[in-house]
Amino acid sequence: MGFNEVRKDYLLDRWVVIATERGRRPTDFSKKEREQAKPSVCPMCPGNEHMTPPATLVYLKRGKGVKKTKDHDNVRHKNWLIRCVPNLYPAFAPPKEKTAPKKIVKRRDLALAVGHHEVLIESPNHDEHPADARIAQLIHVINAYVDRLRQLVAEPYVQYVSIFRNHGLEAGASLSHAHSQIIAMPFIPKIVKEEFKASTKLWKQNGKCVFCDILEREMDGPRHVLENSQFAVFAPYASVNPMEFWIIPKKHEATLLNLSQSEVKTFAETLKTCLNGLKQLVNDPPYNYGFHLTLNKDAGDYYHWHLEVYPRLAIWAGFEKSTGVYINTVTPEVAAESLRKSISS
Ligand SMILES: [Zn+2]
Ligand SMILES: [Zn+2]
Ligand SMILES: [Zn+2]
Repeated sequence: MGFNEVRKDYLLDRWVVIATERGRRPTDFSKKEREQAKPSVCPMCPGNEHMTPPATLVYLKRGKGVKKTKDHDNVRHKNWLIRCVPNLYPAFAPPKEKTAPKKIVKRRDLALAVGHHEVLIESPNHDEHPADARIAQLIHVINAYVDRLRQLVAEPYVQYVSIFRNHGLEAGASLSHAHSQIIAMPFIPKIVKEEFKASTKLWKQNGKCVFCDILEREMDGPRHVLENSQFAVFAPYASVNPMEFWIIPKKHEATLLNLSQSEVKTFAETLKTCLNGLKQLVNDPPYNYGFHLTLNKDAGDYYHWHLEVYPRLAIWAGFEKSTGVYINTVTPEVAAESLRKSISS
């Protein structure tokens, strides 16, 4: 009997056992019934705007374009395309007065959770999730991510902005209305920091971006999923999640802030194609996705933004939680092949 492979992440000191012997097929994870959030009055649906705090960003349709505005105390805009509202139970909250950054860190092991926690309502249509969204609507979503990112990074206490999406109850979406979340925080989270440190070190060693190298290599190999003029999609070599894939821009960019409208459109199309491929393949599985980017203006060469998509098909239990070592029962090569087939069918 052969051994399983233990693979190391491109950059992180994170190892995964690729359990090829168990040889699970992606469709083994397909469930007939997905657990749904309990139906109740949806605070994100049109008409219920008063159930949320005033929006920090609203897109309104104006002729062929979009008017960008926000709500005020008692005024809630109606007939919106996109709304971004503060989370009712924020993990990070804005300072009441101007808090000097030095006051956020109290001790070596204690800081105040100063920041922002917002919910981006992706569509007035309850079920317009990215796998099925109109491209025009998905373009609004991406543009709104960028608008909020631009505004939040301007706050002196914000060190990082995490833009992520939970899909399905099992992936943490307690409300089923199509939405993403944005958390602006006063420190750089561990995984991004580790990626950034490693990529900076490699840039200084090799004089080029490691992500540019990775995407070029993966597009030539068995883990490529999709490629178009602006983006590459692949199943990462040491995926910890079954069916995990990453979307990465071919043009070297450290952050989303410089996306052109043509790139936004292609990104929306790429995202929809891949998530729809996943949905068809595994019957609308729960998933999480998150952007990785850097806000360090002097580090544009060293880092390369990307979106990581983690289908929630495995249950991480005692071994993974107590060791930080993962077992993935679908090889990234099989994941990529299945996604390619699903996308092209
Ligand atoms: Zn709704
Ligand atoms: Zn690069
Ligand atoms: Zn990453």
